Amino acid sequence: MSEGKLIDEFYSLVQVDDQNGNYALDIKDGSYFGMPLKSIVDAEKRLRSNVQHGIAYFSMEYGLATSCYNKLSSQLALNPKNKLPENAVFSNYRVADYFFALHQDNIIDLPIYSGGLGILAGDTVKTMADYKLPAVGIGILWNSGYFRQKFWFKYGQAPEKMRWDPHTYPGLVPLKNRIKISLKSEDVHIRLWKYYVYSHKHDAVVPLVLLDSNIEPNSQRAKDLTDQLYRSDNVFLKLLQRVMLGFGGVSALSELGYNIDIHHLNEGHAVFAFVAKARGLSQDELEKLKRKFVYTCHTPVEAGHDRFSFDDLNKVLKKEDTDIIEKFGKERSGLANLTLLSMNVSSAINAVSHNHQKVMHIQFPKYKEQIQYVTNGVHPYTWVSKAFSELFEEFPGTFPDFKNNPMILSRASELNGNSDFRAKVWQAHQANKEEFCKLLEKWSLDKNLFTICWARRIAAYKRPSLILHDINRLVSIAERIGPLQIILAGKAHPNDNLGFTYVNEMLDKVDKLAEDYNKLKIIVLENYDISLGRLLTSSVDVWLNNPLPPFEASGTSGMKAILNGVLQMSTVDGWVAEATDKKLGAFFGYKNSEGSVGNENDLHMNDDAEELYHVLESLAGLYYKTNPAGKVKTSSEWIDMMIECICTSARFNTYRMLDQYKKNIWNIG
Ligand SMILES: *Cc1c(COP(=O)(O)O)cnc(C)c1O
Repeated sequence: MSEGKLIDEFYSLVQVDDQNGNYALDIKDGSYFGMPLKSIVDAEKRLRSNVQHGIAYFSMEYGLATSCYNKLSSQLALNPKNKLPENAVFSNYRVADYFFALHQDNIIDLPIYSGGLGILAGDTVKTMADYKLPAVGIGILWNSGYFRQKFWFKYGQAPEKMRWDPHTYPGLVPLKNRIKISLKSEDVHIRLWKYYVYSHKHDAVVPLVLLDSNIEPNSQRAKDLTDQLYRSDNVFLKLLQRVMLGFGGVSALSELGYNIDIHHLNEGHAVFAFVAKARGLSQDELEKLKRKFVYTCHTPVEAGHDRFSFDDLNKVLKKEDTDIIEKFGKERSGLANLTLLSMNVSSAINAVSHNHQKVMHIQFPKYKEQIQYVTNGVHPYTWVSKAFSELFEEFPGTFPDFKNNPMILSRASELNGNSDFRAKVWQAHQANKEEFCKLLEKWSLDKNLFTICWARRIAAYKRPSLILHDINRLVSIAERIGPLQIILAGKAHPNDNLGFTYVNEMLDKVDKLAEDYNKLKIIVLENYDISLGRLLTSSVDVWLNNPLPPFEASGTSGMKAILNGVLQMSTVDGWVAEATDKKLGAFFGYKNSEGSVGNENDLHMNDDAEELYHVLESLAGLYYKTNPAGKVKTSSEWIDMMIECICTSARFNTYRMLDQYKKNIWNIG
């Protein structure tokens, strides 16, 4: 087929709205922003054919790591609005001021995610592309992203609106297609956008369809629905963001002519998709429709289960829609519960780790038979650092095909006795750590000092300040064992007042430590996002994970860390509970009793801080025995554990995860 034909075919399938011709510069000659156009044409044709098992994946958020993985490129200069902002660094190291800015000269990641749920969605669609599945992702174009975190000393976190420009984001294109959703008293008009998620080999794509209400002739209220992700300060905004995803997603699929058998609800946020498809159906037809829906639940935490009053629902939705919600999603309290609704309308339900399944069985005993589990994973090619990817390729005898088969990493243990490999594992890690220290040069971080990181969403059950619980204890460990470098980062949801106090507490405690900088360096990084997540999970020596069991459904940042040989210091919760037979570092802390969920407000801070300091002391001790004065002893048990981490990463990736979704949830082999 000639190139001319291909581009004509592309434009007949994809109605790009290119008013000033900018996109034509980047969509040409068989190339889509530097990637093969053919992969898109193939996928678009396939989704419109009578393909079997077309999958629509619905998610409020997608974290695609577009700035570092399968980066699409544009002829146009990078719009400064789409550049990573300078982020403040808060530390007990004071040169001139409390703050210095961390400068990373790169494009922002597509800002349509907030955290783990979105990153899982992104890693899932990337793996669907790698598997060449006929799939489409449905999401929302968040015109102001999630939010940008600013630190204000003596105050804490100040959330700001994030500014970016979707029209100049490479690979993201608006379509001429318009749809609308009908609410009780207004129609909301929606413009569709597309982004293409390429496979690792660039030979396949999963289109991501993004809904955008920021257009005429919508009211300002309707325009604001796709402004910021997870607005919860107003119940109607919160509700209608979910309605937008479900109703809008279903209309978008039909507008684009996609043939879908499986609707995957990534969280209950998406369940209005069922409501949209259920209108006017008979009981028999409803039963048939349920077979086309599956649901993944991502949290046991109370706040994660959306509830709305029927009073509120009736104010904005039509009666035929609230009737369906009432039929399938009304709980005993009289409220509409989106988790219940999702479970009642899906043919398969899954938790995201074995532990989480046990918790769901306690929380929802009526659904015990139906609730399976598929432990989360991470997309290996997104999260493996360059140094480690090159290391694996240096040992083709053991890892003959890492580029196509990440499961091959389970063989890492075969190289445990190979001193060359052991030395190179350490070197690769040091190379990553050196790069990180260089970025934070002004704070004089040292690649030969023990470095531990806690970075994640700030939520009470994750216990952000556990490591700072007893500062004197930290100073004493540093004096006896050796200097400690502690890196902290995380965003609290703007309406989470408790989360907000944690950021404040962190900054306050760090501030009081100015004198101790030569033994204890603490760095708090502003605006935790994918670029920082990727950097941190591959650069520090130990990844700290201390949620209160059993409230971490899975967690994924530790999986990114083990892929890069970074040791774990973790409570036994989420995915970690499935790896306690492995020597990945140190496990510690409170364990909830089997058969009970416990109390998410009883944080066990004193006992668990005590245990944390105990294992910190032993890991730091082992570190300084392994790496005394920068001269590594490669026979050390530390390197055994790094290798065991790499080996274990084969199980906690999205390839294993997708195999299980295919077999157990989607029933497609
Ligand atoms: C991986 C990642 C997460 C999720 O990690 P958890 O272990 O679930 O906290 C959240 N935010 C960012 C930026 C990440 O990279």
